[in-house]
Amino acid sequence: MSVFLAVVFLLTLLFLLRVMWRQNRALGELRNAVRSSQPFLQRDRAADYLPGWPALTGTVNQLITENTELRHQRTDQLTQLEATLGNLREAVLIVDESNYIHLANRALREIFPGARDLVNLRLELIVRSVPFLDYVRATRAGQPLPRQEFEIIDRQNTHWIEASGAPIPSPDGKSQWALFVIHDMTNQRKLERVRRDFVANASHELRTPLSIIKGYIETLVDGHQTMSLEDRDKFLKTIQRHSERLKAIIDDLLILSRLESATPGLTFAPVDLPALLQGIADDYRRRPNGADHVIVATAPETLGLVQADAEKLTQVFGNLLDNALKYTPKGARLELGGSVTGENEVELFVGDNGPGIPAADLLHIFERFYRVDKGRSRETGGTGLGLSIVKHIVQMHGGRVWAESEEGRGLAIRMRLPRAQRN
Ligand code: ADP
Repeated sequence: MSVFLAVVFLLTLLFLLRVMWRQNRALGELRNAVRSSQPFLQRDRAADYLPGWPALTGTVNQLITENTELRHQRTDQLTQLEATLGNLREAVLIVDESNYIHLANRALREIFPGARDLVNLRLELIVRSVPFLDYVRATRAGQPLPRQEFEIIDRQNTHWIEASGAPIPSPDGKSQWALFVIHDMTNQRKLERVRRDFVANASHELRTPLSIIKGYIETLVDGHQTMSLEDRDKFLKTIQRHSERLKAIIDDLLILSRLESATPGLTFAPVDLPALLQGIADDYRRRPNGADHVIVATAPETLGLVQADAEKLTQVFGNLLDNALKYTPKGARLELGGSVTGENEVELFVGDNGPGIPAADLLHIFERFYRVDKGRSRETGGTGLGLSIVKHIVQMHGGRVWAESEEGRGLAIRMRLPRAQRN
């Protein structure tokens, strides 16, 4: 009897252990279902013996289904938004309550090219600007804020952006997000800076000869009766020299502003390069200061024709030869010429064996008013604009220009021009 009871007890214990093991397994499956948002499919009915188990699994499955639907809805909404805003010219940004980026359209990605995909990154990683992050926080909190401009340092680059924003509910409606429309103001700000610097430089350049002229005229007005003829002559000649400089600066400024205007007035026609270069060389040899130098033209017939504005191209060589005459000593050798460097390209140059230019200045000499030796340039009537005019004209012909020099061994200004026919 006792053996029978022991067997029954053992069998019951085994049965209970098996039920507990299967229930544990069902609980594990339920946990996994919740984690992976997959509906719970009970493989083993043994768990049904748990009190309230069928009701619990039913509720969990319903929650999982609702949650999945909401997630799909949310992704659908973001995908729809992305599709609508993706190609807008304005940059659009959506951030959630923790500053995670949920939408960054193409225009926004172009403003921050450093980060490949902005979505799911924290805004702080992309936009390191405390004022902008404060603006985001305040917008999300619903404060009505006007459109505002921010300076943003991204690695070594500075961007200027103008942002306006609005709070939006998150797709599940449980938190507050924020949407921003952003304009890239970088080019505009850089242009404004260039323009400001240019106006400041131009005013300074004009003021110097003007103050000298004014000073000398005042002295003449006050003292012309008592002044020696020799002094008067010296004063008048100084006034004449500085008014010529003033005129030269204004003339060059007008040329530059015309070149930059909507109607630069260039007339393209076939130009015979060997004839043009020989003609310029002959002209310069006949000039009084040209006679002190050796002027050589190396213009093989193969150079042929380019489609160009002959007058502007002559101005390019004129500016370069004027410089070569100004900055080299008497007896120096000046050479102008060219060669065919490609099927559709020629390389032209003006070189000299004068003092040349230090390497550090080479990249800057095409900037407006940049001079390596200010005193020498002014003394020789330079305006500091000659090479920027050259660069403008070359670029308007679809070419590029650069300088090569070894200090003490001369300077060569080279340019490549396309030979292709223009319509
Ligand atoms: P500038 O009117 O002063 O000559 P440019 O724009 O023509 O202005 O030239 C810029 C500067 O480049 C000059 O001030 C001068 O310092 C330097 N430069 C130009 N050409 C030569 C040259 N052939 N040899 C040495 N320096 C030159």
